[in-house]
Amino acid sequence: MTLGGFQSGFSARKVPRSEVKWEQFLMCSHGCAEVIQLISHVSGEVEFELCKIEAERMGKVLLEAAKTESF
Ligand SMILES: [Zn+2]
Repeated sequence: MTLGGFQSGFSARKVPRSEVKWEQFLMCSHGCAEVIQLISHVSGEVEFELCKIEAERMGKVLLEAAKTESF
């Protein structure tokens, strides 16, 4: 299932843990059953994956960063 993307070149999709591509690099100690994958528009490959909890954290961090005034 594709969840949309960004103009910077990735689309996101959610997959079950069993379909993780880079299990050894997945920073997840929560036992999450679902993983978010970022797929490059250029290569069509999974470039980045993170578990649901980490994805939510990353989303919040990006949101905060985007809202922060830069001087
Ligand atoms: Zn997790």
